[in-house]
Amino acid sequence: MDTTREWAIRKDRDDPLRRFRERFYIPEGCVYMDGNSLGLASRDAEACILRVLEEWKTLGIHGWLDAKPSWFTFPEHAGKLMAPLIGAKAEEVVLAASTTANMHVLVATFYRPEGTRKKILADELNFPSDLYALSSQIALRGGNTKENLILARSSDGHTLDEDEIIRLMDDSVALVLLPSVLYRSGQLLDMERLTRAAHDRGIPVGFDCSHSVGSVPHRFDAWGTDFAFFCSYKHLNGGPGAPAFLYVNERHFGTAPGLAGWFGFRKERQFDMALEFDPQPTAGAWQLGTPHMMSAAAVEGSLRMFDEAGIDSIRRKSLELTTYFMDLIDETLSRSPYDYSYATPRDEARRGGHVAVEHPREALRICEALKARGVVPDFRPERVIRIAPVALYSTFEDVWRVAQALKEIIDLREYERFGKGRKAVS
Ligand SMILES: *Cc1c(COP(=O)(O)O)cnc(C)c1O
Repeated sequence: MDTTREWAIRKDRDDPLRRFRERFYIPEGCVYMDGNSLGLASRDAEACILRVLEEWKTLGIHGWLDAKPSWFTFPEHAGKLMAPLIGAKAEEVVLAASTTANMHVLVATFYRPEGTRKKILADELNFPSDLYALSSQIALRGGNTKENLILARSSDGHTLDEDEIIRLMDDSVALVLLPSVLYRSGQLLDMERLTRAAHDRGIPVGFDCSHSVGSVPHRFDAWGTDFAFFCSYKHLNGGPGAPAFLYVNERHFGTAPGLAGWFGFRKERQFDMALEFDPQPTAGAWQLGTPHMMSAAAVEGSLRMFDEAGIDSIRRKSLELTTYFMDLIDETLSRSPYDYSYATPRDEARRGGHVAVEHPREALRICEALKARGVVPDFRPERVIRIAPVALYSTFEDVWRVAQALKEIIDLREYERFGKGRKAVS
C-alpha cells in the first residue's frame, strides 16, 4: 500500500473520471469533504436552472406543456434519469416532495397494522427525522411508539448487525424501515439480504437511501425491495432543498396511496378535475402536488452527469478514495499522539461513500480547525468528523491533504484556538 502524496498525484492523473471535476464549482481554496451533506453546484445543474428560468420568462403558463422536457411530466422524466442508478424501471421512480414527506406518503401506504401485526421495525442509528415520522405514523393509526416502534440496537454505537435486525422480524412486525447507509458511521447495510429475510416472513420492507444513492449502486428490482425514498442534495448534487425521489416496486402499482394528491392522478385526465381520485398506474401515483420546477431543474443537470459517468465507475473511485483515507489513518493518524480512529467498516461491501473519523477528546475543535484550514468536513456529536471524498469532484490529493491537516492540527495544537460551543448547523 502506497500512501505517499506522489501516489495520490499519479492516481489523479490517471483517473478516468477526472474530467468531471472542472464541471463543478469548487469554492475557492477549499478541500470540500461534505458532499454527503450538501453536494456541490455544477455547471450542468446551473445550465438546467437557467433553461427553466428562460422557459418561464418566454413561455409563462405554456411551460407546463411546451417546455422541454415539459414541466407537467418533469417528475417522471427525472425518474427515468434516476432509474439506472437504483436498478429500477423508469416507471418505478419519480421525483417528488422531500425525503421526509415521501417517507410519510410511503409509510402511510405500506404500514398496515392488523390484528397482532402492528409494529414497525426500525433502528436506533437512523436519521432522527425518520424516527419522528414513524412515531407520528403509528400515532395516526391509534398506536403508541413505546409499544409499536421497535428499534434494532447497536452494540458499538456505530454499526448495526443484520443478524440482530433479522432476529427482530417476528410475526408482530407489520413493516421494516431501515437506512441503506448509516448517516453517522457510513455503514452500508445488506439491503438484499434484509429484503429477502423480511419477505420470507411476509413483511414489506422499505429503505431510506439518502446516504447511498449517487455513491453506491442499488438493485431494487433484483432485490424485490417494496419501496425506497431518498434526497437529491447529498451525493446527487441537486442543490439545497432539492426535491427528493421515491421508488415503488411495480408489483404494488394499483395499490391506493395512503396519502393522495392531484399530481398522483392519471396524467391524461388530471385536468378533468374529477372529484374521485384515479391514480397513475406507476410510482407517479405517490406524488402529491406540483413539482418545484426551479430546484427540480438542477437535479436534472446533475443526473445527466451520473448517467455519463456511470454509477459503477463512481462506486469504484469512491471506494478507492475512502480506502486511501483509511490507509492514511492506519499508517500514522491512529497512533499516539494523534489517536484518530474510524467508525466506518473497513470491508468494502459494508461501507458507503464517507468515512466517520473519531477523536476521543477533541473532535469538535479539530473540526473547527479543519474549517479554518479550508477543509470542509462536518461534525456529528459526540465525536464524529465525517469526511466524504466524492468521486465526481474530489481528488486523491485532496484526501492526502485532509490527512495531513488532521496530523498538523495535533502537531501544532491548532484546535486549542477554538471554543467548545457548536453552531446551529454543524
Ligand atoms: C438527509 C436525510 C434526511 C433529510 O430529510 P429531508 O426531508 O430532506 O430534510 C432524512 N433521512 C435521512 C436518512 C437522511 O440522510
